Amino acid sequence: MSGIPYERLKAFEGRVAATAGRGRDPVNEPMIRHWCEAMGDTNPAYQGPDAIAPPTMLQAWTMGGLSGHTGRSGAHDELFGLLDDAGYTSIVATDCEQEYLRPLRPGDRIVFDVVIESVSERKTTKLGTGHFVTTRMDVRAEGDPEPVGTHRFRMLKYAPAPKKPRVGRPRPVINRDNAGFWDGVGAHRLLIQRCGGCATLRFPWLPGCAACGSPEWDTVEAGGEGTVYSYVVMHHPPFPAFDPPYAVALVELAEGVRMVSNVVGVPYDKVRIGMPVRLEFLRVAGDADGEWELPVFRAVVGSGG
Ligand code: ZN
Repeated sequence: MSGIPYERLKAFEGRVAATAGRGRDPVNEPMIRHWCEAMGDTNPAYQGPDAIAPPTMLQAWTMGGLSGHTGRSGAHDELFGLLDDAGYTSIVATDCEQEYLRPLRPGDRIVFDVVIESVSERKTTKLGTGHFVTTRMDVRAEGDPEPVGTHRFRMLKYAPAPKKPRVGRPRPVINRDNAGFWDGVGAHRLLIQRCGGCATLRFPWLPGCAACGSPEWDTVEAGGEGTVYSYVVMHHPPFPAFDPPYAVALVELAEGVRMVSNVVGVPYDKVRIGMPVRLEFLRVAGDADGEWELPVFRAVVGSGG
């Protein structure tokens, strides 16, 4: 990694990274419906003949998909090439910020311009040393010069810090509200809270019932059967105690509540939605504080029904 004179990077500020980029699809009802279902957003403004698109979908309309955008100018590639050549070969998205000026409606066709808004001086973070690059995308609908919103996206282009020696798995944070759960795990019992007011089961543990507000509760022990409700495969960023890629699953227990855990017993790329799993307890190593256990779920393969 070598330093780049900051004036060279600063000169990219204000340069155009894309002009009149086009959204792949016009604003449309199916994408709005899928979005609302995924977000659990039942706001009536997004339904029916006068529906508007959720403002937070702004980025969804402008994404290039796996094959990328057409019409991107050289400035973006030039800047990233310069940073790559100087040894800042890694990238991580750090934050984004959106501003909404008017709603989009089904049928609107998306047009956007992107500028490189700022390039920071060299900064050192936990990940490594590099430069923050902020791009600003101005989005409008075809035929209307007024913007509908802006999307700012900040990335860190950095040289990875040297790898630290492997460390132990971080301990869960145990507090007054969840201590009973971890006591249960220590005794190989997976305990679900049950509301004393309305008997609704809840997980993770909380001091009150989201359904009726009652602070009274007791517990029921999970039978251990479940299915993979959803999952992601974790590639990046790497955490010292974990060895990517690995699958993180949202497991729906037979009792109806869901919990985030790991699926064991199958390779990460064989985990599937709907896969039956069974509870077990995994002993893991911490740093200096010995071992403890975590509830995980083993894939039930070849169960044959
Ligand atoms: Zn309740």
